[in-house]
Amino acid sequence: MKRITFISTILYILAINYILGSPVERMDNKDSLRIVITFNNCSSDTNLKAGPGFSAWIEYKERVLIFDTGSDYLTLLENMEKLNLDFMKVTDIFISHNHWDHIYGIPGIAGVKNFQVNTFIPKSSVDAIIQQVPRLIYKEVNEFKELYPGIWSTGEMSSKFLNTTIAEQMIILETKEGLIVITGCSHPGIETLINLVKGKFPGKTIKLLIGGFHLEKKTKEEIKLISDYLKETGIKAIAPSHCTGETAIEYFKNSNGVDYIQMFLGNEYKILNVKL
Ligand SMILES: [Zn+2]
Ligand SMILES: [Zn+2]
Repeated sequence: MKRITFISTILYILAINYILGSPVERMDNKDSLRIVITFNNCSSDTNLKAGPGFSAWIEYKERVLIFDTGSDYLTLLENMEKLNLDFMKVTDIFISHNHWDHIYGIPGIAGVKNFQVNTFIPKSSVDAIIQQVPRLIYKEVNEFKELYPGIWSTGEMSSKFLNTTIAEQMIILETKEGLIVITGCSHPGIETLINLVKGKFPGKTIKLLIGGFHLEKKTKEEIKLISDYLKETGIKAIAPSHCTGETAIEYFKNSNGVDYIQMFLGNEYKILNVKL
């Protein structure tokens, strides 16, 4: 769709929503999981527009969550359209952390829903985000918590980033095949994240870890240690992208013990029956 037509469509939807009001929609009850990457700097699909940042579309039972929103909402909405993802079905937005390449799409995705969408924000980032998007309906998250049946937040995990403290939350989805974990940038460290998940879900397998592993500045030796650690934890598969870095992604692709799944822009992952 040409950009001008696309913008008119968005304006039209906004106008209709404004007139009618738009209830928070729920999808028909179902037991499947579907994850589609809608924003990423790592892409193999030339039809879609890559850009700095990360966003994933998550359909889990009756919820449709947007995990992070990338750095540009027009690109995010255009990519969703091309992927046939109906953003009117979105029920919730989940923000991992307050970095521009994860939050700049919020006004677009909340706006097309006339702000009738719930947003989960790490507690310490609420003020900064609400200042930018005052109409946002939100719930603050600070502790490990079940947001909806089978959908968990790790809660805020603090770490240092460029001399500031940044709090980040990750999402955990329970399925009968194991846990699916989605991370934005993993600023607290992949090991810290996995340790937390294993501690909170003793005996459960991590089936897949998707997202940014933040290993761009790591040496090959450091990447090898992390790869070895992932093998030891028994995690079944990883899908690194975004800020993971090319060296680390290449290493993971070629190392044995943990399966590598490509989840770049436009890639999709499905489990047909997640029932526990
Ligand atoms: Zn990032
Ligand atoms: Zn970040």
